[in-house]
Amino acid sequence: MPAILDWRHTADVADTPRRCVLCGKPALVISPRGKPVHKTCAEAWHARRGGEAR
Ligand SMILES: [Zn+2]
Repeated sequence: MPAILDWRHTADVADTPRRCVLCGKPALVISPRGKPVHKTCAEAWHARRGGEAR
């Protein structure tokens, strides 16, 4: 698994849903960059960017 998608040690889970920055629907996961986002949305975003580290 690519390190950028291994969020087990870097992602956080919010107490209340926040709007996903990628799809706009409520998400509980906070990305390593501190943005509310679904992991699936983030993975798709990374895929579109060709696996760029950031
Ligand atoms: Zn989303």
